Amino acid sequence: KQVPVISVDGPSGSGKGTICRLLARQLGWHLLDSGALYRLTALAAQHHGVALDDEQALVVLAAHLDVKFVARGEDDEVQIFLEGEEVTHAIRTEEVGNAASKAAASGPVREALLERQRAFREAPGLIADGRDMGTVVFPGAELKIYLDASAEERARRRYNQLINKGVGASLEAILVDIQARDDRDMKRPVAPLKPASDAVILDSTSMSIDEVLNVVLDQARHKG
Ligand code: C5P
Repeated sequence: KQVPVISVDGPSGSGKGTICRLLARQLGWHLLDSGALYRLTALAAQHHGVALDDEQALVVLAAHLDVKFVARGEDDEVQIFLEGEEVTHAIRTEEVGNAASKAAASGPVREALLERQRAFREAPGLIADGRDMGTVVFPGAELKIYLDASAEERARRRYNQLINKGVGASLEAILVDIQARDDRDMKRPVAPLKPASDAVILDSTSMSIDEVLNVVLDQARHKG
């Protein structure tokens, strides 16, 4: 029997990352943060002076990404290394996120990252976080979740995160940015962000993290 997968797709700021981390911890399953791979590809391009429209060079970088995900025992923080350098926080900037979304529009770049993503499927199970987990990477996933929230609410969450970190931010600028990224992710011809036909669609706009988590765990139990 194949190792079970729960796929969680949706736009940035929908709460996917948090939900996936909690799910993986509750179930004791592995976690694939596929967005990190696109972010790492974008950062590698920056480090190597590769332009985001140089598809051939990007594919080579993506295919040979030297990355390590190191789990630190006590909490579920994962440290990320690119070519031996710690980039855990460096890949989380808006700049890298935008660059990642540009690189991710390329079919050959996506193809180059496909097997690496599938290799995360290890016993006892995998929580796969991304945009095309249920549609392309794990079409046979046991449970597919599509987590959505209004753009305004997602911008507010991002804004609060930044303010809490002591980083100055403009709610309006964040909203414009989120809408541009959604647009690019949903309108690209390859693996666009959209719910799989058999996905459970959850709108987290007015749900707490616990509420979303409980609905997903409930669905997972039903699938047994
Ligand atoms: O989820 P995160 O914000 O880290 O993803 C960064 C970008 O990577 C997304 O905006 C999207 O363009 C791309 N991505 C993707 N497919 C995935 C995960 C992320 O195209 N499975």
